Parts: sequence; C-alpha cells; structure tokens
Amino acid sequence: MRSYQHLKAMTSFVGETKRKLYSLKKAARDQQKELEKTMDAQKTLADTSSYCRVCELDLRSDPKEHEDNEIHNVISGSIC
Ligand SMILES: [Zn+2]
Repeated sequence: MRSYQHLKAMTSFVGETKRKLYSLKKAARDQQKELEKTMDAQKTLADTSSYCRVCELDLRSDPKEHEDNEIHNVISGSIC
C-alpha cells in the first residue's frame, strides 16, 4: 500500500515536472519568436543560427547571449 502511494506520488511528480518543462520550453519558443521579429526588422544576425539542446530551440541569436536567458537557465536547472 505504502509503495503504491509512493509510486503514485512519484508518477505525478514526474508528470508535473514534464508539464512544467513543456510550458517553459513553450515560453522559450515564444520569447525566441518575439526576438526574431525584432531581429528581422534589424536584419543583423539573420545568418547566425545554432541549436539549443536544453530548450530544443533553433536560435538565430548569439548562443552565448541565449545562455544568459532566464528561461534557458530554469530549464537547464530542471533537467539536471
Ligand atoms: Zn536554451
């Protein structure tokens, strides 16, 4: 009985974390989209592209700059 409760708690914890990660990644995507809008207007870093494995996101901005991003750091902290 106790182990079942524990398992159930663990499962819901994992589900909770996954949901949290999903919404964080979505937030990162939305933020990136907004960023790209302004970059398209400026046409400065249009040729720069890289991929963030943490956010699962194509970046058109400086990856170093992206690593300072708050959402990126929250996601990388959540994954461990
Ligand atoms: Zn990232």
